[in-house]
Amino acid sequence: MDLRNAVGKRHGYHPSTMAVYLDHAATSPLRPEALEAMLPYLTSNAGNPSSLHATGRRARKAIDESRESIAQLIGAQPREIVFTSGGTEADNLAVKGAGWAATARGRHIVTTAVEHKAVLNATAILERANFEIVCLLVDEFGRVDPIDVAAALTERTTLVSVMSANNEVGTLQPIAAIGEIVRGHGAKLHVDAVQLAAHEAIDINAWQADLVSLSAHKLGGPQGVGALYIRRGTQLLPQLQGGSQERQRRAGTENVAGIVGFAAAFELARAESSAEAHRLRELSRRLRDGLDQLEGVTLTGHPDDRLPNNVSVVIEGVEGGDLVAALDLEGVEVSTGSACTSGSTEPSHVLLAMGIDPHLAHGSLRITTGPETTAQDVDTTLAAIRGVLPRLRGVEGVHPKVAATA
Ligand code: PLP
Repeated sequence: MDLRNAVGKRHGYHPSTMAVYLDHAATSPLRPEALEAMLPYLTSNAGNPSSLHATGRRARKAIDESRESIAQLIGAQPREIVFTSGGTEADNLAVKGAGWAATARGRHIVTTAVEHKAVLNATAILERANFEIVCLLVDEFGRVDPIDVAAALTERTTLVSVMSANNEVGTLQPIAAIGEIVRGHGAKLHVDAVQLAAHEAIDINAWQADLVSLSAHKLGGPQGVGALYIRRGTQLLPQLQGGSQERQRRAGTENVAGIVGFAAAFELARAESSAEAHRLRELSRRLRDGLDQLEGVTLTGHPDDRLPNNVSVVIEGVEGGDLVAALDLEGVEVSTGSACTSGSTEPSHVLLAMGIDPHLAHGSLRITTGPETTAQDVDTTLAAIRGVLPRLRGVEGVHPKVAATA
């Protein structure tokens, strides 16, 4: 079987669709190299890593090697990596696990209004158990001010949870500055690095982070697998009860093939990262320049401190969901807000936290490029947006800011 064809150029599992796929923040399709690395653990080498026989030992070895590789990529020790079923579980384990483990010292947790729902809903559960949750506000670009973090800390604060890069608008947070403050205070710092990991080297020591969430399918690995980095000495109450896997921090048979694919994709992403980040930044600039030509389009997120592959806008006079559906019919796949909030009629909590008018926030569009995206894909997308906007707005003409003849 030709794996590269099986995976398809654009669409992981759907080689027949020739859509322009610009939704890498939702899922970045499986890299062929990752699939290739996974296949033996789905077929001839499929064994339970807890089994003592040769097949089990091969599965265990594959996990150990993947753990070493992922640890090395972020500057950690292998025993500090716990594999999970994805970013959501990693966030839940970090927030609830660290929260519950430190109740003797306090029940005060600081987070931000723009976190992923996996963090926000985990803190909401703790709030129902008498934890006090402080949700910090952000500026118009979605940035948290480290001074606000410092001001929110109390004697009873045990955990601060701040994402490194926002999944909707792409804004990067000043994690190292926040890490300095949190370490000085003595609380633990959790960083959701799910969106950043594909694009920038993560150095948990430069961040002074104690807990870091990762997810494979955001960086070209398979869905349903992720990891939580847990700094040695960080107390955590396991959130799943069962066997003693993952040094008793996460019960359940490991997703061997998924873990192997995760490591393969992460290694590839890191090896390509600086050249690829430069290329993606150029594509984003092309997209932004094109969108800037259209009336009623406002870029969201930080203008400079942002993920290289994310272009987010709000568009006046349209519903983001209608725009996504119209573009889908044109063979262009993008999203409105995050994958998790799209489908809901509520405007995104991230845009609202940034002070964007709720009416305008309904017209949000997120375009996220990836390894296979070309300049031609960007131009096709811009042409499709120009084509569908007038219809969705119920008017003729595209309303270019600059006359076509200019
Ligand atoms: N955190 C962030 C910032 C994300 O973007 C996502 C996915 O959208 C998650 C967590 C959840 O990751 P997963 O889909 O692996 O559960």
